Amino acid sequence: MTSSGVRSLPELEEIPCPLCGTATFRLVHTLQDRLSPSRAQAAGVSQEETFSLAACSSCGFLYLNPRPRPEYLGRYYRAAGYDPHRRRGGGWTGLLYRILRPLSVDWKAAQAARDLPPGRLLDVGCGSGEFPARMRERGWEAWGLELDEAAAGQARELGVKVVVGDPVTAPLPDLDFDLITAWHALEHLPDLRGSAARVAGRLRRGGRLALALPNPASLEARFYGSRWVAWDAPRHLYHFRRQDLQALFEPLGFRFLRSLALPLDPFYHALLSELSWKSGPAAGLYAARGLLLGAASFLNGLRPEQGSSLLYLFQKT
Ligand SMILES: [Zn+2]
Repeated sequence: MTSSGVRSLPELEEIPCPLCGTATFRLVHTLQDRLSPSRAQAAGVSQEETFSLAACSSCGFLYLNPRPRPEYLGRYYRAAGYDPHRRRGGGWTGLLYRILRPLSVDWKAAQAARDLPPGRLLDVGCGSGEFPARMRERGWEAWGLELDEAAAGQARELGVKVVVGDPVTAPLPDLDFDLITAWHALEHLPDLRGSAARVAGRLRRGGRLALALPNPASLEARFYGSRWVAWDAPRHLYHFRRQDLQALFEPLGFRFLRSLALPLDPFYHALLSELSWKSGPAAGLYAARGLLLGAASFLNGLRPEQGSSLLYLFQKT
């Protein structure tokens, strides 16, 4: 946005499909930035920003196109309502998030490392470090990679060894990792192939890659359409199906092991999908509908690859 509130074209870039390179696509949804009201208010502008979700006409991959150039992405994370590293505030959904987060961290630790002896972990996009800290308690040598300096500082307070930077350029230690995790991180990275190749290169042969991502084929994604909160434009640049991840990681020497649904995401996604666009006296009704839809989505997620978010496990061969 310029000071007048009109988005200038130099801030946007049109890209070919990040997976197969095809330049043609079809428009799937026009997405509003759910945080744009608060950011526009802070900037003293009134214009809503919208973004186009494209499907590659060749491989079907869903990606934001055009998208903000990488140097303009930071502003979209500084809005008052952005949630991931928050320890206070956020109303009902913030409260629910903080209550459920310890359960979520336990689940992640159990599933990502299932059947693995403790070793060396790298958590990409570790945020304030709760997950690697839990893995450390379980005997793992826990490393994190995080772009946000403040969040990295919180992770260090928990005893996590944190490298600050993005996956392509960060000064990673000269070590091999036994497990690399990325919880809702891959969809944020402007250089998808470069990030995947560098991170994959740090995993030892036989090591495991665990990727958690929103599922664009989920019940809520279909129910909410362009209002599904997990489209989260323009912070989420891509939306992956299993075949997209295979197209990205199999050429790097990985084989798909299995996927499973994250148990809490349907409730969180459905609540936020209801409440991100509405406020006022009826918010309680919308919250109730969100919880009902979240329950339906949770049950639907018991079917293979139908979860609101999915954890995909790959092994490096
Ligand atoms: Zn494609």
